Amino acid sequence: MKNPFENAMEQLDKVVKVKNFNPEFIERFRRPNRDVKISIPVKMDDGSLKIFEGYRVEYNNALGPYKGGIRYHHDTEINEVKALAFWMAIKCAIANIPMGGGKGGIAVDPKVLSKGELERLSRGWVKGMADILGPKKDVPAPDVNTTPEIMDWMADEFEKITGDKTRATFTGKPLGKGGSEGRGPATGLGGFYVFDSLRAQLGLPEKCKVVVQGFGNVGLNAAEIFIAHGHSVIAISDSKGGVYNPNGLDINKLIEHKKTTGSLSGFPESTNLTNEELLEVECDVLVPAAFENQITDANAPKVHTKAILELANGPITPEADEILFKKGIPIMPDVLANSGGVTVSCFEWEQNLKGEHWSEKEVFDKLLIMMNDAAQKVFENGKKYSTDLRRGAFILALERIESKM
Ligand code: NAD
Repeated sequence: MKNPFENAMEQLDKVVKVKNFNPEFIERFRRPNRDVKISIPVKMDDGSLKIFEGYRVEYNNALGPYKGGIRYHHDTEINEVKALAFWMAIKCAIANIPMGGGKGGIAVDPKVLSKGELERLSRGWVKGMADILGPKKDVPAPDVNTTPEIMDWMADEFEKITGDKTRATFTGKPLGKGGSEGRGPATGLGGFYVFDSLRAQLGLPEKCKVVVQGFGNVGLNAAEIFIAHGHSVIAISDSKGGVYNPNGLDINKLIEHKKTTGSLSGFPESTNLTNEELLEVECDVLVPAAFENQITDANAPKVHTKAILELANGPITPEADEILFKKGIPIMPDVLANSGGVTVSCFEWEQNLKGEHWSEKEVFDKLLIMMNDAAQKVFENGKKYSTDLRRGAFILALERIESKM
């Protein structure tokens, strides 16, 4: 399988076949402005010293300061971070926020660290990166396995090093510590707004049967929001597997079940599923909300959905993309569908810089307008260039970035 950055470049290749861009711009856009790798020494609780690898890729800042999350995962490596930073540049342009694209990470399984070790590691990442960060330079945020508490440690460390008290250098902070109302559910909610904006145009029923892969921040919030709007979630999974009920799952009870048993399986009135089986369940909308490269040329022919809402980053390989396109399954692409998170992160940055605190209603109202506008512009581009929504989205982003560069 190709690495995520090779997949991202393949997406770019496909876009320039549909629309002509200045070749020099495209050549420049094939490389990040800067990628930084640091070694982070951490004193472990047992007194030993461990060195971790940390990354920050600053892809493109034509539209504003670099913006993008920090991921803690044992598989994190430079090509993954580069791809995620590239997608952030595209995503911020589609969302029409004054931000460029960046991404960071640490190769670590945070679950094996104590809280103290995790805090020292997180502060270590900031010490190593402080020179390149700042509210007008590079503004990180949470991603997989990084939490508001971690963002708070990082913001605190940055303030200690630089004296900058705006707290605008990190977003996704806890409420009361510079965080924005609504940041928690923002990605899932923004994804729902995209779906809702395009539902009728994509020929989807008023009440959809939805399958969600992932039971974390994004997947769980999305599941709850779909149900709150009258749709049913008939299957959902976490890393260990999933559960299926064709009449719809009760998500609150499922959360309780996972709390008490430690897993989703064995949930009453449901059938256990493997993650492979979950992606093949017949449904109206399939929502990958876990990790990249989940739908490949091997399983794409077995996908039985009317549409896909990509809330994870890069869950569908370019080969699978082609197969699904030929099957006539529209994909609301990640760079559009999960841009609600970075949009509310941008709201948080703006509030910090202005010393304001907006209500949740204000945040969600603004988010709705922006997601709706982005979804419709992407849809129009798809029609205008007789192509899929992913290429339509990339064209919108590349036009905005190119004109600024
Ligand atoms: P998270 O760590 O909160 O949740 C990830 C979930 O995926 C967990 O429930 C985990 O058990 C599950 N999982 C892992 N491997 C799986 C597998 N093979 N099959 C099924 N489930 C699996 O992370 P998150 O913040 O929800 O992020 C999920 C995805 O959304 C990532 O691709 C991330 O980059 C993307 N994303 C997140 C945000 C955000 O605001 N958090 C914004 C944009 C994009």
